[in-house]
Amino acid sequence: MHGHVTGPADFRESRNPRQPNKLDARTIKRRNALLAIPKADTQSVATDLFEKCREFQTAREVMAMGIYPYFRVIQSAPGTVVTVDGQELLMIGSNNYLGLTNHPKVVEAAADAARKFGSGCTGSRFLNGTLELHVQLEERLAQFMKRPAALVFSTGFQTNLGTISCLVGRTDTIFADRANHASLVDGCRLSFGKTVKFAHNDMADLGRLLQSTPNGGGRLIVVDGVFSMEGDITDLPSIVRLARQHGARVMVDDAHAVGVLGSGGRGTAEHFNLIDQTDLVMGTFSKSFASLGGFIAGDEDVIHFIKHFSRELIFSASMPPASVAACLAALDIIESEPERRQRLWEITRRMHREFRGLGFNIGPTQTPIIPVMIGEDLQTFRFWRALTERGIFANPIVSPAVPKGSSLIRTSYTATHTDEQLDFVIATFAELGKQFGVIS
Ligand code: PMP
Repeated sequence: MHGHVTGPADFRESRNPRQPNKLDARTIKRRNALLAIPKADTQSVATDLFEKCREFQTAREVMAMGIYPYFRVIQSAPGTVVTVDGQELLMIGSNNYLGLTNHPKVVEAAADAARKFGSGCTGSRFLNGTLELHVQLEERLAQFMKRPAALVFSTGFQTNLGTISCLVGRTDTIFADRANHASLVDGCRLSFGKTVKFAHNDMADLGRLLQSTPNGGGRLIVVDGVFSMEGDITDLPSIVRLARQHGARVMVDDAHAVGVLGSGGRGTAEHFNLIDQTDLVMGTFSKSFASLGGFIAGDEDVIHFIKHFSRELIFSASMPPASVAACLAALDIIESEPERRQRLWEITRRMHREFRGLGFNIGPTQTPIIPVMIGEDLQTFRFWRALTERGIFANPIVSPAVPKGSSLIRTSYTATHTDEQLDFVIATFAELGKQFGVIS
């Protein structure tokens, strides 16, 4: 695992026999001398900062085995079929839920906006980066989400960082689902408040923690609406009830739910008929909206506050015109073509039924995110490679993203997948599942 460190020819490292992961003191001194680290620092610097980078060999080992699945270069538009290394692959590894990434109206709107407003805003929303397009998108989103106000950020990740960290202060407490997305986790870390984690979608645990955590400042319950790996839906009715009982506010990250869940595509709150009782809803533009950026929707005074205190908004350049215009066009389609959402759900129900029927373990998913459990990491990488060789683009999820031994292939579906494409997915998984001993 620990790779050979390359360096000047006369430099030989030796390791501390009692701590084989660490270089011995003499080696560190000599290395620091070679790296021209000042003498004063050599006493206090235990190892070179970059030591870990040289020691990190896992990815290179997987590359050498020909089963490295990350940073794949796609040579075509992100549709249901993509080209990788000159080979056409059927895409079941994207978040293009409504298939709008190459919809002519969306692409045209982006191109028109670039021609009219240029390629970028060169500044933040706060100062010189607010175009009429941003304001229009915020008004349209507020209307669509049935909330008084909305605010757009340059990515969904930033939206979560910027919202949580500016709202939650020293005396406040966050109650977070353990399976929350990394951007929520980091938002909680960035805030000065205390974070209490509850077991995934376990309302008894959340209730206990709300009860036992001392009251002080404000309280915020933060959850994914649809969990991005598991594909299950948060128990929003219980969360809203507990929030009311214990004086907490509720924030839902609906990155995988807006455009997908609810009769009008408004996400988890609409799905449960709880729009009025969900304080803050976050969405991203990198999935159903076929663009890039994110938004937070809620009460006007809360959004006004975030606008004036969120560092991720104030100190980062705004969404480029093409991305904003693409969102506006995507929103038109989300509102006017419910048949896309209906098709996505028809596909989702079919794939749940077929995978489960074949004997695959797809966990508690209720949505177009369908994780197929494989087991060990290496086995999962091999399964992934076999899928690629047969013409399918899917994503392996291994530890530490999931517990060891629970590695999986994450699949997700798009409204524009054809029945024939789905037949092919099922037939291929059936064949490989047997070959790899995942199903009998
Ligand atoms: N929240 C969730 C649940 C997500 O899955 C993602 C993206 N993977 C994000 C937030 C971040 O969104 P973005 O890609 O727009 O930065």
